Amino acid sequence: MESKKKICLGIESTAHTFGVGVLDFEGNVYSLVNDIYTPKEGGLHPVLVKEHHLNNFMITIKNALSNANCSIKDIGLIAFSDSPGLGQVLKIGAIIARMLSQILKIPIIGVNHCIAHIEIGRLMCNIEDPLTLYVSGGNTIVSAFESARYQIFGETLDLSIGNMLDSFARDAGLAHPGGPKIEKLAQKSNNYLELPYVVKGMDLSFSGLYTAAKRLIESEQYGKNYNLSDVAYSVQETCFAMLTEVTERALAHTEKKEVLLTGGVAANKKLQKMIEYICKEHNARFEVVPLKYAGDNGVMIGWTGILRYKMEGGQEISDTFIKPKERMDQITVPWRD
Ligand code: AMP
Ligand code: MG
Repeated sequence: MESKKKICLGIESTAHTFGVGVLDFEGNVYSLVNDIYTPKEGGLHPVLVKEHHLNNFMITIKNALSNANCSIKDIGLIAFSDSPGLGQVLKIGAIIARMLSQILKIPIIGVNHCIAHIEIGRLMCNIEDPLTLYVSGGNTIVSAFESARYQIFGETLDLSIGNMLDSFARDAGLAHPGGPKIEKLAQKSNNYLELPYVVKGMDLSFSGLYTAAKRLIESEQYGKNYNLSDVAYSVQETCFAMLTEVTERALAHTEKKEVLLTGGVAANKKLQKMIEYICKEHNARFEVVPLKYAGDNGVMIGWTGILRYKMEGGQEISDTFIKPKERMDQITVPWRD
């Protein structure tokens, strides 16, 4: 199927966000609508996320089309997130995309979510070849383009940074999402309490830090010798210093001249400051993806779908299966040299 109309509907459905974006093949964005599942307690339970997306996908698509001032018949390409993510949740996006593609008789294309975070950053920040620090609720990755792929230079060996912050915040009695609340609390302190700092080469581990921070708020000393702001400050200082160290090492190794910070945790001003500092030291340009596009969204999926579609055309429906564990470095990126 060839796409006659140059408008793409992008569907994000890897985890908490059911996102829909409408944009054209030049990268002009007409709408971005997200419906985000927020757990009342605990983490993301795949069955509950799936139910949320099933209940909300139709209205989200409708709102995205209406904000874009267009009808479903104006859409010429469907892109959806096919990897990585929660299997049950990925399936929702895949089924909707397959259905729309067949009913509308328009091409379909599956997109790797992590690559989409980089591509939307390149588009929105007008940046060519960045080293990317992607920090979110599900991922912590330092990546750069080399040998036809987005190679992973560093990544977490256990918890993602956002998951660690949210889990600690939950233990401290703060509502989800915890990251922004920790940031606010941390601004009130400069009393550093020792926490495990674990960097292995360019990889990171946050589980020891999480356990130690939890112990601090369970300790008898808590509320006497230090308070929650002090722990929040110490958690941030430690994990952001770890992220900064591996980003700097990857920057020195790859000799890239641009650094892109993206994912939901990119909103954190302290992290931005620390990464900006090493960029200055290495004479690299520093960009933070505009926050609207830094978190999960359908526009990034649509844009990456367009990039691949222009090179390879659409996929056969039978090839549009989900790949919950696919890594970004397994995928060739034909639209870059
Ligand atoms: P994403 O998975 O990309 O949608 O990002 C969601 C994650 O970003 C959650 O773990 C949030 O706690 C985290 N987050 C959002 N804002 C901030 C902030 N200002 N500081 C730290 N983490 C944040
Ligand atoms: Mg993400």
